[in-house]
Amino acid sequence: MNNTRQIAFGYSTRCNIKCNHCVAAHDGSPETKMALESAIQIIDEMSSSHVTGISFTAGEPLLYLDEMKELVRTCKMQDIYSRIVTNGYWSKTRDRSDEVVSTLKDTGLSQLRISFSRWHQKNVNRENILNAALSCQRYGLDYFISFVTDFRKEDDVQEQFLQDNQLKYFPEPLIYFGNATGITRPPVFTDYPAHRCAMNPYLSPDLDMFACCDAGNQFTKTDAFYLGNLKSHSVDHLFQKKEKNLLFHLIKTMGLTAMASFLGFKASEIVKYRKCDLCETLFNSTDHLERLKKSATTKLLHWKR
Ligand code: SF4
Ligand code: SF4
Repeated sequence: MNNTRQIAFGYSTRCNIKCNHCVAAHDGSPETKMALESAIQIIDEMSSSHVTGISFTAGEPLLYLDEMKELVRTCKMQDIYSRIVTNGYWSKTRDRSDEVVSTLKDTGLSQLRISFSRWHQKNVNRENILNAALSCQRYGLDYFISFVTDFRKEDDVQEQFLQDNQLKYFPEPLIYFGNATGITRPPVFTDYPAHRCAMNPYLSPDLDMFACCDAGNQFTKTDAFYLGNLKSHSVDHLFQKKEKNLLFHLIKTMGLTAMASFLGFKASEIVKYRKCDLCETLFNSTDHLERLKKSATTKLLHWKR
């Protein structure tokens, strides 16, 4: 997915497992689902609004396999790159895994992203992940494994499993929102990362759109990432709202570290933050947000070496 307008599409927040680290379908959040007809219309509208990539995510999309096939087919007809994010619960046997993967491939799915972590694997056997990945290899469906980790030593054994089986994976840092809020954070050992962010929006099953696909709906004190609802606004309008927002642009280009430094955070304090925690500190505080907004077109914009 290389072009500019891409979106994480939350068809339903329903999931069949409960992960202790879940941001999307976390405990206490109501299960919601989009109507199939409505989702198809939105994808058509997205196509006219130059959206070139859709990632179906939120709960477990493949609980609705037949509906996902419809949505993927719609993407294919509109020449939109499609990805499904799954926990792999369905790939218990090689035969079932082959059946689902070959169907998705035939329907026109561009890529399968398979979640893997010590939290997911309390509910889903890791052999499922292997089955799903091997089916993708057999049927020529592009895939990768999203290895969610908090970088503790105990995760090495999970990573070793991926390496032993020569699977394609990318480590993803745990985001400490939703169910993960209470998980103890091990200290961070990095230098001074810029903490830039791709800023791909997220559409919820209730048709609320947020500027961040990972955790923007968690910023309840400021609603800083909320763009609006598709019942009242067009897809193009909400994308434009995101694209014209200078602070979102600066998260993407300048990064959160420079913004924190601009606000007066000490370097020794900044390095203690993970990216999304720093983002929450800056954007879920009315005071910080106001100061950033006030200077966005002046001093902050010119805060360069
Ligand atoms: S599989 Fe994904 S959506 Fe389901 S509980 Fe786990 S992290 Fe949440
Ligand atoms: S850093 Fe901010 S914008 Fe980026 S994923 Fe985290 S919460 Fe979202």
